[in-house]
Formats: sequence, C-alpha cells, structure tokens
Amino acid sequence: MKPVIALVGRPNVGKSTLFNRLTKTRDAIVADFAGLTRDRHYGHGRQGKLEYIVIDTGGFEPDAGSGIYREMARQTQQAVAEADVVLFVVDARAGLSAQDHEIANYLRRLGKPCVLAGNKAEGMQGSAQLAEFYELGLGEVFPVSAAHGQGVRGLVEHALQPL
Ligand code: GDP
Ligand code: MG
Repeated sequence: MKPVIALVGRPNVGKSTLFNRLTKTRDAIVADFAGLTRDRHYGHGRQGKLEYIVIDTGGFEPDAGSGIYREMARQTQQAVAEADVVLFVVDARAGLSAQDHEIANYLRRLGKPCVLAGNKAEGMQGSAQLAEFYELGLGEVFPVSAAHGQGVRGLVEHALQPL
C-alpha cells in the first residue's frame, strides 16, 4: 500500500495548488475563492522513489455549524482518518490565524503524524515571520511554495520517511 497524505488547512492557504504540485495533475479545483474545493480529491504522486496517494480537502472549519461547511468538515475528518500522515498547510504570508490554532488543537488530539507546511513562502527563506507557527506546538514549519514548486520534495521526504 502506498502511504496516504491528507492536505488539511483553512481555506485559501494553497492546499489544492499543493495537491496539483504533488500529483502533477490539475485534478483539484484551484480558485481564488475560499472553500471552493468542497469534496475530497484523490491523486497519485511520486517524488523520486517515494510514491504516495494525496487527498485534497475543502478547508477545515472545526466549528462549522451547518450545511456545506459542516459537510466540508466531515469530509476533512474522513480524509484525516484515511491518512497515514497529515500535511497541515498554513499561509506563511498571512501569518498565524485563530483558525490555524483550532485546526492544530484538533490534529494534536488525534495523535496522527502531522507535518506543518508554511505555504506561499517563496522568497521568505529564513524569514522571522515563519517562527510564529511554532506556537501551534506541532514542531518545525517547512517553508514551501506550491505555486513555484519550492521545498515540496523535501516536505514529502520529511513526511514519508518515518512511515
Ligand atoms: P485552498 O483553498 O487551500 O485549496 O487554496 P488554493 O490552492 O485554491 O489557492 C488559494 C490561492 O492561493 C490561489 O490564488 C493560489 O494561486 C494561491 N497560492 C497557492 N499556492 C501559492 C504559493 O505558493 N504562493 C503564492 N504566492 N500563492 C499561492
Ligand atoms: Mg482547495
């Protein structure tokens, strides 16, 4: 069985862009509109010798009350349950948000392997802005740029090698 990676994070952080980068397909919906990918998308991917399955999700809102938002949260929870490792994607440019804290708390309770990816970090290597994500208590944040393909291979190797 190939390891399964779930992409989790609040809307608009770049999960679908990262999905496309990881799978070398454009299966997921990428849009400037938050939360457009409302269902899960599965894709096969490979970086060097490492092969994996990726699940994209619509954007997790832990306290989503009803309707489409509750459905998105449910889909995300199912994706996390199916995954061997969670890639928790945050927006390195926007910085830490309250929603990031909620998601981190949820993921910590699950006790599933979790790697923190600070996306949109093109040109931000060594930036002090990344340091605030340590507050999430999930360890090191890996700067990546899904749009530019930077840091993605190292992120995958870090996520999959312990499995
Ligand atoms: P999702 O809602 O988390 O799936 O986010 P999307 O993949 O739909 O991306 C949301 C927005 O962020 C789009 O406008 C993307 O073009 C943009 N985006 C995604 N990755 C990057 C990146 O690495 N750098 C920058 N600057 N923008 C990005
Ligand atoms: Mg999306």
